[in-house]
Amino acid sequence: MHAIILGAGIQGVCTALALRHKGIRVTLIEQEPRVMAQASLRNEGKVHLGFVYAKDDSGKTPALMLEASLKFAPLIERWLGRRLPWGEIRSNPFVYAVLADSMLGSDSLLESYQRLQERYLALIAGPALHYFGQRPERLWRLPDARQGAFARSLHQVRELIPTVEIALDLVQFRSWMERALAQQKAIDLRVGHAVEGVARTHRGFEVAGRKTDGSGWLATGDIVVNSLWANRLWLDQSFLGTIPRRKWVYRLKYRLLGRHPEALDPLPSMTFVVGPFGDIYPDTGGGRKRSGDHALTKTLKTMLAQTPLIKNLDNPQYMEIVLNGKASLAERFAEIDIAQVRKALAEAQNVTQKFPKRMAEVFKIPHLPKRLLETPSKKASTP
Ligand SMILES: Cc1cc2nc3c(=O)[nH]c(=O)nc-3n(C[C@H](O)[C@H](O)[C@H](O)COP(=O)(O)OP(=O)(O)OC[C@H]3O[C@@H](n4cnc5c(N)ncnc54)[C@H](O)[C@@H]3O)c2cc1C
Repeated sequence: MHAIILGAGIQGVCTALALRHKGIRVTLIEQEPRVMAQASLRNEGKVHLGFVYAKDDSGKTPALMLEASLKFAPLIERWLGRRLPWGEIRSNPFVYAVLADSMLGSDSLLESYQRLQERYLALIAGPALHYFGQRPERLWRLPDARQGAFARSLHQVRELIPTVEIALDLVQFRSWMERALAQQKAIDLRVGHAVEGVARTHRGFEVAGRKTDGSGWLATGDIVVNSLWANRLWLDQSFLGTIPRRKWVYRLKYRLLGRHPEALDPLPSMTFVVGPFGDIYPDTGGGRKRSGDHALTKTLKTMLAQTPLIKNLDNPQYMEIVLNGKASLAERFAEIDIAQVRKALAEAQNVTQKFPKRMAEVFKIPHLPKRLLETPSKKASTP
């Protein structure tokens, strides 16, 4: 059996290692000069334990995230055949700062975190699972009264909840994966190879494309795994006639990199539970609002309809500019030139910008980093 994997992001790389582990020969195709060069390098690196899905009343998403996060490192270790020094690439743990406009109030959030903790204890009873080398007793701790008082003294912060959630240093993680791929003789990694088309043949599949130098290439295999992400639907639809039954949701995500003032160096990693999207719900002080799918959908629809971006989707002139001759947003997104985006990002990184004026008040809080740091280091208290 020979598999051709298209796209060497985290999905493609992991699929290659998993198939290789099962004894399958693999050709891994990537347009960039290195693997994991796009979303898989440019994301936050957070390995979600399920905290940010507290608004899912079914509990299915947080449970899935939790289980996957406990299986991720053991799976990689199984494919590589050795233990890995995760401590070298782990961030310090995240503290969740619940802001005043959190969609869920502190009580509901803590209830959902507690359900996660119970599920965690059941899962971690299995000896094979771990969270990047760690098997802590608790996923989060209830802040004590002193920390609670400190949280309330901060602008808009209702609660500071220390968790064990971490992010990975993706530059380092990628170099581990690159080394692992280089050691696997049965994985034929072809970087600088753009995929331009796929065809089903009577013996399997043919994949064709262009190399960085403009010359053509062709690969044949028994199966094809499409891990292109940005170009995944285009490829499925154009060449294999596969159209997903349900509509896809497109999410535009930004990563902003900034340099914080030196005084804040010792800050812990933080997640703000904030705003009108995700696991948030406006708390207007008149008691907790009704939650549930219906209420959430209605709230989101109202809020979405009010955003300029969504309003503009009904504006033909605006859409004409955005679509630029293409039939749909999907087609338009597919032609975004990643080289140009990268150039703009690189240029943006050279701009030194001052922090907003309101933040100056926060920075003035005496011993701010030390006080925030004390939060995660306090002894556990029972929720
Ligand atoms: C700003 C941001 C923050 C995020 N934060 C997190 C987070 O904290 N935690 C988390 O779990 N997830 C996070 N995500 C999501 C996560 O990054 C993605 O789910 C994940 O990286 C997707 O991996 P992938 O392999 O599917 O896609 P990609 O990493 O995009 O890999 C696809 C690969 O296919 C290649 N390719 C595309 N077209 C072609 C072609 N025609 N020919 C050849 N190669 C091609 C690309 O070059 C790319 O290398 C974040 C995403 C973003 C954008």
